[in-house]
Amino acid sequence: MANLAGIVCLNHPNEPAVARCACCSKPLCEACAAENMHDGVPYCSDLCYKNALRTGAMVNDVNRRKGAADFKRRIIQLVQLLILLALIGAGYWYYKNNKAKVDAKIKNVQQQVEKGSKDLKKGIEDNTVNRKSTYKKNVEALDASDLAK
Ligand SMILES: [Zn+2]
Ligand SMILES: [Zn+2]
Repeated sequence: MANLAGIVCLNHPNEPAVARCACCSKPLCEACAAENMHDGVPYCSDLCYKNALRTGAMVNDVNRRKGAADFKRRIIQLVQLLILLALIGAGYWYYKNNKAKVDAKIKNVQQQVEKGSKDLKKGIEDNTVNRKSTYKKNVEALDASDLAK
């Protein structure tokens, strides 16, 4: 309870205040507080009680709507998680059931890559060697024609 020492009732200046209106914080004496007591909460007037009810209802409505939005968002997140899990599960299931096929495919790709790099290496080597030998042949031919002069 708020400190009401030295504060008097707004309606009765001779009476010490024992409570404040829950809506407008007006100090109230025991009689005034009891007059507009609702669910153990004192109000200075019926107007304040109705205002409090309206505000309370609004706050509740906002909370309810916010709660509904949170709930919806959580459901969406859950659904997304389930879809993700289903995809992972399906992928794993597929792998498990086609392990031999998948492994063979991976091996096949690996072999192709190895073969490809080997062919490439061989091609480069051939090319280099061939070019070298062509150069050599040309030089030799030049030498031969020089000698023929
Ligand atoms: Zn009030
Ligand atoms: Zn009073």
